[in-house]
This record gives sequence, structure tokens and C-alpha cells, in this order.
Amino acid sequence: MSDECADGVYARLGVRPVVNAAATLTAVGGSLMPTEVLGAMADAASTHVDMHELHTAVGRRIAELTRNQAAYVTSGCAAAIVLAVLGCITRGDPRKIARMPEGTGLPTEVVMHCSHRIPYDPAVNLAGAQVVQVGNALQTFEWELEAALSERTAAVLYVAGVHLGAAALDLATTVRIAHAHNVPVIVDAAAQLPPHSNLWDLTTKHGADLALFSGGKGLHGPQASGFMVGRADLVAAAAANGAPHQRLARAMKAGKEEIVGLLRALELYLDRDHDADRARWESIVERWVADLDGAEGLQARRCFPNEAGQPVPRVRITIDSSRQATAADLADQLWGGIPRLMVLRDGIDAFYLTPDTLTEEQQSYVPQHILAAVQAMTADTAEAVRV
Ligand SMILES: *Cc1c(COP(=O)(O)O)cnc(C)c1O
Repeated sequence: MSDECADGVYARLGVRPVVNAAATLTAVGGSLMPTEVLGAMADAASTHVDMHELHTAVGRRIAELTRNQAAYVTSGCAAAIVLAVLGCITRGDPRKIARMPEGTGLPTEVVMHCSHRIPYDPAVNLAGAQVVQVGNALQTFEWELEAALSERTAAVLYVAGVHLGAAALDLATTVRIAHAHNVPVIVDAAAQLPPHSNLWDLTTKHGADLALFSGGKGLHGPQASGFMVGRADLVAAAAANGAPHQRLARAMKAGKEEIVGLLRALELYLDRDHDADRARWESIVERWVADLDGAEGLQARRCFPNEAGQPVPRVRITIDSSRQATAADLADQLWGGIPRLMVLRDGIDAFYLTPDTLTEEQQSYVPQHILAAVQAMTADTAEAVRV
């Protein structure tokens, strides 16, 4: 699919395309898929298939590629949370599955660190479970986790990412304590690719029972895709709650196109030279800093890691206070411009630019586009002052 074609679809609707220099945000469509992924999705769309057979075959292939016992494709990482929690509650027993979402008599508590509470965790409630919080924003003691585990506990949900700081117990400690109480640990690793080693390390090295990922973020797969990897019994139990079965999580089915597209995206991702990607991002960031720092009253500096704690460099932009405009004003100007550029805002005084969501062409014009926007904006301000 060419750019013009994509523009055509959106143009007909009066919807403006976005150049995404912010992050792999769902709000602007996640990430862009390589042509090979689009081709695989088109292939998948061209015929009917036994969805049980497809899920099983793709799950087996993803498990091999990620060195896990089993895998299952979902319609996103939030959906994977719902399915993983349902799997841990019901263990795949149809009589228990039929009792959801009320969950009468079943273990429906999911333990989370206070510092891991994220805007996606209502997915736990969607699975008919309640969050039991341990620790606080600054620290967590081992006894607090131990005290929270009981026969009512379905699982511990652990959110991965170095950006979350040290207020939670580390994953290995969490796994040790949970397993001593026979409680499985689910890791939400939605945005933790890169590094690609998370595909196996979280489960096979750190001992988590399930790890969950988004397909439409760093993997560059379909936006409405995700997957879980880990223990075969729990993956099967999770899958038993979802499509093509007519059960609770049927409401979040992945289609044949997403399932096949996700697998192709994962294969391509694993074939990438990740060191070369990193080096390329570093050189783009270096060029952006050189082009922008000190120009038009802007300061630009390299930051690392990114907003999700991933090993991806990005640039933080601030604007000189004598300019009569804030970084937030500039972000507004960029959003209103042609092309419409999205940056990641940090309050009114700063925003970030990331290289990994942009095409090569976009990476090269971003600095000039920003400088032009500052000029246009300060010219407007000067005019407004004259008036
Ligand atoms: C993005 C994200 C999710 C949701 O993932 P989707 O694939 O968009 O459903 C869940 N948890 C975390 C930590 C995320 O960053």
C-alpha cells in the first residue's frame, strides 16, 4: 500500500494523516507495518481457515521463535491481560469459565505493586477480577507481597520497564515469593520491545509464567494485535476463554489477518540487526541535536532511555523563555501544521522527538519543519504584539 493510497483513504474522510515523532501511541495508530506484513495480512484475508488450527499453528511457531513453551495471539496487550487473568482464574476448566465474569467461589484477586498501577489495569476488572495493591509509590516490602497472597489470589500482575523505578520488588523476588505460594506471575511487557531479549528473558530467565506484548508498538505488527508467551497450561487456559470460543473474551477476538500479520512482524523483527537499528537511531538523534540546538531559541539534547524505559534514544526540546512562546505552544503549532507533526509533550516547557516511529524521509525533514514552525509562531506573536 503506497503512502498516497493511505492518504487517499483518510483524505476522503477528511481525516488528516499524522507524522508521528512521539512514540508508538495507540492514539495515533501505534506503528507502521512493513510491506511484508501487509502482504501476509492480504494473503490471510483471501481465504477461510479453521481458526482453531490457525491459532494453534501460529502459537507453536511464536513459541519456537521466542524459545517459550507456548504462545497465543490476542487483539492487543490489554486483551492479553484480560485473557491471561481469565486463564489464571479458571485454569481452562469449562465449568469455571462459565462462571465468569461473576467468578463466584473462584480466586479472583490479582496482586499488583502500587507503583505498577497503570492506565491499562482496568483490564483486570474486565476479566471479573479485583486488584489487590501492595506497597506504596516509594517502596514495597517482601512481607507485604507475602501477606497479600491467599487462596483468593489468581495471579500477580507485574509491569515491566526500567522507567518504573525501584518502588516495586524486582521481578525475580516477586516470582520467588509468588511461586512459594503457588501463584503465577503475569508480566505486562506491552512496550518492552526493544530489547528483543525480553521475548525469552522474562519467562525463561526471570521465571515469569506468562509475558504479554503488544503487536502494534516496537514490533511494527498490526495495531490490533498482541500476544502472550509462557507456560503451556496457562496459555491453553487463557485461550480457552477467547475466540473462536463463544465465551467472555470473545469480545476481543484477533482476526486471521492480525494473527498472520503479527507472526510475520515477529519473524521480521527477530531477523533485524538490532545493533544497527540502535546505531541508526543514535545518528538521527545526533543530527537532530546538531540541527536544532541553539537555533531559533531552541535547546535540544539527547535523552535515554525513552518514555517506556526502552533502549531507544530521543531528543528533548525546550525553548528559550525570551521567545514569548512555550514548548507546548510549539507542539500545538506542529500539530496544526502541514504535515501534522505529533511530538510527545512534557508539560508546557518541553517535548520529545523519537526517531523510531518515522520513515527515513520524515526523519530528515523533522528539524526543518520544527524551525519553520518556530519562525511562523514567533512571527504571529510579533504581529499580535504590533496589533
Ligand atoms: C500499550 C500498553 C498496554 C496496552 O497494549 P495494547 O496492545 O495497546 O492493547 C498495556 N500495558 C502497557 C504497559 C502498555 O504500554
